[in-house]
Amino acid sequence: MAFDYVTKRGDTLYRIARQNGIMLGELMAANPQVEELDMIYPGQVIRIPDRTLRRYIIQQGDTLYDIGRRFKIALDDLLRANSGLDPRRLRVGTLIVLPPSRGMDVVSPAFPYGYVELREDMGLLKQRYPFLQTEVIGQSVLGKELIAAKLGNGTKRLHLNAAIHANEWITAAVLMKLLEDCCEAYATGRMLRGRPVGQWLETTSLWVVPMLNPDGIELVQEGITPQHPYYAQLLEWNNDSYDFSGWKANIHGVDLNDQFPAHWEEEKARRGVAGPGPRDYPGAAPLSEPEAIAIADYTTAANFQMVIAFHTQGQEIYYTYRGLEPPESAPLAERFAQVSTYRPVSNIESDAGYKDWFIQEYRRPGFTIESGLGVNPLPVSQFPEIYRQVSEIVLEALASTQ
Ligand SMILES: [Zn+2]
Repeated sequence: MAFDYVTKRGDTLYRIARQNGIMLGELMAANPQVEELDMIYPGQVIRIPDRTLRRYIIQQGDTLYDIGRRFKIALDDLLRANSGLDPRRLRVGTLIVLPPSRGMDVVSPAFPYGYVELREDMGLLKQRYPFLQTEVIGQSVLGKELIAAKLGNGTKRLHLNAAIHANEWITAAVLMKLLEDCCEAYATGRMLRGRPVGQWLETTSLWVVPMLNPDGIELVQEGITPQHPYYAQLLEWNNDSYDFSGWKANIHGVDLNDQFPAHWEEEKARRGVAGPGPRDYPGAAPLSEPEAIAIADYTTAANFQMVIAFHTQGQEIYYTYRGLEPPESAPLAERFAQVSTYRPVSNIESDAGYKDWFIQEYRRPGFTIESGLGVNPLPVSQFPEIYRQVSEIVLEALASTQ
């Protein structure tokens, strides 16, 4: 039965579709009054169309995996729609329900991509790929979990992180999609973009923290109401504007990528920002914020060979830090540039960033990649291109450690 639903805070069409087991396209078709994906507001009436469930009778020789591939339905969705069904003991003649296909992929570049999507996708990836290990490396100011994922058995370690800046959240979706594709390649032994990723992961494991600033991302995507614990401060810090699309900082108004103990005082003087705000305030002291502490501790404990921090925008590759970077950094930046068409940039006047601190502490290659081009937050239309360029860089990094 179709029914009406009154939207609440935090709802997006994508989230509503997912909660009701229907496709985004079906939901949009049932609601022609909603012209744009991001144009819904709390209290709006949305028509939830009937789930058009198909049925299927198990044939001789069928496996659930085959059925999933035939109808483009993910195995976890099939199992969820048919509770009690044992995939190892399918009986010929059994009637099963075919849930709507949302493709075989877990991570969908449906936007906006927030903390809710990240958690759900990480859970689904773990179900589908039990070898994927996850851990919580800390909590944001508002108590959201900072989730790390580890893939592969390799004793060398490559670290990727993203979305330390709130309005750069597209990078979280990009790393989640890449994690999914690497899991699939690892599970099946298939090539990824023509490279033997599964084999490489036996030498070098991937350590990924896709969303370092979930509170800030929620603020950018959902705005605030008087119930927000930092309502008054956030409005003041944002010059009384309810438009938080330019917000980069965490929920304390601290720029997390200006928080690391690498000439922090000089960065503070250079920025000249006295107090909390949308961007560029480095905090009262280095590592004053839980998100920065979490990634610094995680990095210290893990002994990474190389780190890459993903940002938007500019199509640039930063690889130096005060001449402390090792000799292999420049040729690596060149390789990344060749595969991505991004531009290597050296000797910028900047301190206290994550990669700056990593290079200073470990004298190993550290990179900041400014992906995409335009005004943050970048539009969904850039996802395929950014995904391709970022994947090429990460694959090149993996190859270089073999
Ligand atoms: Zn950034």
